[in-house]
Amino acid sequence: MDANPVIHAEVLVLGGGPGGYTAAFRAADLGKQVVMIERYPALGGVCLNVGCIPSKALLHVAQIIHEADEFEQHGLSYGKPSFDINKIRDWKQGITKTLGDGLAGLVKQRKITRIHGTGQFTSSTTVDVQTETGIKTISFDQAIIAAGSQPTKIPVFPHADPRLWDSTDALELKDIPQKLLIVGGGIIGLEMATVYHALGSEISVVELMEQIIPGCDNDLVTPLYRRIKKQYKNIWLQTRVTAIETQDEGLKVSFDGKTAPESELFDAVLVAVGRKPNGKFIGAELAGVSVDEAGFIAVDKQQRTNVSHIFAIGDIVGNPMLAHKATHQGKVAAEVAAGLKAGFDALTIPSVAYTDPEVTWMGLTENQAKQQGIDYDKAVFPWAASGRSLCLGRKEGLTKILCEKETGRLLGAGMVGPNAGELISEAVLALEMGADAEDIGLTIHPHPMLSETFAFAAEMISGSITDLYIKKKA
Ligand code: NAD
Repeated sequence: MDANPVIHAEVLVLGGGPGGYTAAFRAADLGKQVVMIERYPALGGVCLNVGCIPSKALLHVAQIIHEADEFEQHGLSYGKPSFDINKIRDWKQGITKTLGDGLAGLVKQRKITRIHGTGQFTSSTTVDVQTETGIKTISFDQAIIAAGSQPTKIPVFPHADPRLWDSTDALELKDIPQKLLIVGGGIIGLEMATVYHALGSEISVVELMEQIIPGCDNDLVTPLYRRIKKQYKNIWLQTRVTAIETQDEGLKVSFDGKTAPESELFDAVLVAVGRKPNGKFIGAELAGVSVDEAGFIAVDKQQRTNVSHIFAIGDIVGNPMLAHKATHQGKVAAEVAAGLKAGFDALTIPSVAYTDPEVTWMGLTENQAKQQGIDYDKAVFPWAASGRSLCLGRKEGLTKILCEKETGRLLGAGMVGPNAGELISEAVLALEMGADAEDIGLTIHPHPMLSETFAFAAEMISGSITDLYIKKKA
């Protein structure tokens, strides 16, 4: 008997994260015989196992702690919270397991062949998978690469030290360091800062650029910045970490920046300075697939690589590295592979930082509108005038929209405030549907909801706002 019988796939999917499993499911639903290769025993990739889902579970814990604490001033007191991190960790793992088991069930229902192992292309029609029991060779008619990304490491840091974390380590919730330094004031860094601050760590953040979350307009980030500036020990902007040294009593971190000290000792350091694509680890060259210096694979609107029967989707094809982008691209690749006419032509991919307050944006940012010389009208509705926001005990939020000056059409929108992330989808739909400020203002929003603030911002542009008084221009 052949020890390595070749398995054939009409569609081979490399990677079982949100992009990969969505592509596999769609291809199977369109009648293709699918083989999906995943190196980890659980499906769901970074998002489900060490990303979006476990972080949101921990962020919910942080929210409960903060809300309970802040409502003391309004007459509600539970006393100081006590927590059992083992139980919190088990609960978080339980969510991941439930969703992972659900995915495994969906794979079975669709009769997809799932192979557990690390796949590498060996030609433009074959992949070898290193499994626990040896190499398995898969031949394919078409392939979809969905092999994702990994945290960027700074080579000079002492990576063997368990006190130097990446996002996966931070999500493990092994212990609560007394002094935690977060390197990188982007989305991962600030979400993890929110969690560990609530659990009692003293937080310092160091960010290279002049603002936190540099891709977002400054006015939307400011309410978050003001709040965490009070909560955290330090936020050092325009500062670089020059060295991290292992010492018995902690990690000695050296800084180069205007306000940062020369060096300081921390109990743990989380490095969250971005992610890099896995393009260089899949044997792409043997399949003839071009990978650039950074590890990205270029694709066309149909998600085809330079090799026309091999597609690529998700983090590996470029920024933004977001699960909701990968799933949409996965569907496009599967549909094209199945002979349907499809293309990835979304007008925008929304971003959400699940911090407290949440920060979210979509479409054109104001910075981009200025850089591109676009004539726009802007409105910013303050949540201090939203009844619902005040009922949450919060008034720092903002909803901002940009509309084309000539036509009133929505160009971009952003919100900051508790639960702001839930509001952005309406703005994305409005943009995709070509709505203008009047359309949005005339759409009846239920009262009293935070979503009203999107309509109010639109009314500020169309001139019909009554929830604020805006003095007429003379
Ligand atoms: P990021 O790009 O969002 O943020 C990294 C930050 O680190 C940036 O602000 C950057 O200026 C800063 N930085 C870079 N080098 C530095 C240095 N040497 N010293 C100090 N600061 C430095 O990256 P991330 O937060 O690591 O997230 C990685 C990816 O994962 C992103 O694509 C992100 O969109 C995605 N992600 C998304 C979510 C979400 O949607 N909520 C959550 C987590 C991660």
